[in-house]
Amino acid sequence: MRTQVGIVGAGPAGLVLAHLLAARGVESIVLEARSRAYVEQRVRAGVLEHGTVELLRDLGLAERLDREGIVDHGVGIRFDGRHHRVPLTDLTGKSIFIYGQQELVKDLVAARLEAGGETRFEIEDVRLEGIGSASPGIRYSDGGRDERIDCDWIAGCDGFHGVSRSAIPAGLRAEYDHVFPFAWLGILAATPPSSQEVTYARHDRGFALQSFRSPEISRLYLQVEPDEDLGAWPDERIWEELRTRLATDDGWRLSEGPVLEKGVSAMRSFVVEPMQHGRLFLAGDAAHIVPATGAKGLNLAVADVRVLAEGLGEWYASGSTEVLDDYSRRCLRRVWRAEEFSAWLSGMLHRMPGENAFERRLQRARLDWVTGTESAARAFAQNYVGFPFDW
Ligand SMILES: Cc1cc2nc3c(=O)[nH]c(=O)nc-3n(C[C@H](O)[C@H](O)[C@H](O)COP(=O)(O)OP(=O)(O)OC[C@H]3O[C@@H](n4cnc5c(N)ncnc54)[C@H](O)[C@@H]3O)c2cc1C
Repeated sequence: MRTQVGIVGAGPAGLVLAHLLAARGVESIVLEARSRAYVEQRVRAGVLEHGTVELLRDLGLAERLDREGIVDHGVGIRFDGRHHRVPLTDLTGKSIFIYGQQELVKDLVAARLEAGGETRFEIEDVRLEGIGSASPGIRYSDGGRDERIDCDWIAGCDGFHGVSRSAIPAGLRAEYDHVFPFAWLGILAATPPSSQEVTYARHDRGFALQSFRSPEISRLYLQVEPDEDLGAWPDERIWEELRTRLATDDGWRLSEGPVLEKGVSAMRSFVVEPMQHGRLFLAGDAAHIVPATGAKGLNLAVADVRVLAEGLGEWYASGSTEVLDDYSRRCLRRVWRAEEFSAWLSGMLHRMPGENAFERRLQRARLDWVTGTESAARAFAQNYVGFPFDW
């Protein structure tokens, strides 16, 4: 078997890359370890930056997103019982889109299959071969059969726990890792959102976040311990804690309903440099992860593959490696901006273990600054809606 670009992973990075390449006339095969049903149901991100939505529209992949997604023009920040609004669109001219990652993945898979693009689910034991040579390949097992795909290039889009990153020799990659001293307990609940805008809360008991996925489904998060036992959180305890942490003194009420799903996610920052070795390019969570606070992970994945598709398209069109040679530098500039923003926002909104009264005062001063001055609110808003792709 042969293809031009072998893509490992059918998450947002791998699937958007496959579509971007197809639009440039470059063929690819996508290999995914999980089943189609699994990747289409995995509940994760929900905030799409302005640029991500524009890119999907340009690819003709935003029809359902435009119909069912919710445009948000502002973000709420709560502390000391008061609600403050950062007017994203007034400050930047841009908005964000609320659309579940699993819905986006469904759209991307359906469009890929409809266009006849090859995507193999439930393959096993992926190994990358010859990435330092001009004829790399992907070996894997499919239903017990050993297969190999010869390709010109390999895109490692297999997420944080994938195998691609480790194909770069350890001595040739630097890894930057930071584990935050808290985790998020997230629920999906069958109840309309209490507020039509994503709302962050800083409370002495810890952080909370009110978000949603549709007019009927809410997504809510609570700061918990990194090793939190989910069994210690019956639904009523979760709602009680959300009511406390999100409360305002103006009579706002939390909308509650049956919990459909719950889980605990670690908060971590990770970056590998460079994001390329020989004929292998890493994209998305395979190369970097951010704490979910800034809602940047999926958007970074899309920004990476946009550069990668441009570089591969140019190589097939003219043989030039100019863009490919600059891939890591271009992506990492944006990645580190998002890392900094996500860490800063996390630090401002979470209760830190062992924090003292002085540190709490500093946190409060940052919150006052962001919610009380236009210049700080504008900087927050620019980061939140996302920097332009050519930044
Ligand atoms: C709770 C939570 C909330 C989040 N909220 C947001 C948000 O609001 N906004 C935002 O932008 N981001 C958010 N994120 C982050 C976002 O979900 C990720 O950054 C995004 O999924 C990255 O996409 P990806 O394609 O790089 O990786 P993934 O989505 O992880 O996809 C990788 C794919 O590769 C497959 N794979 C793995 N190993 C192999 C292998 N060996 N062979 C073949 N296939 C393999 C996996 O099964 C998977 O399908 C959130 C994450 C979490 C956990």
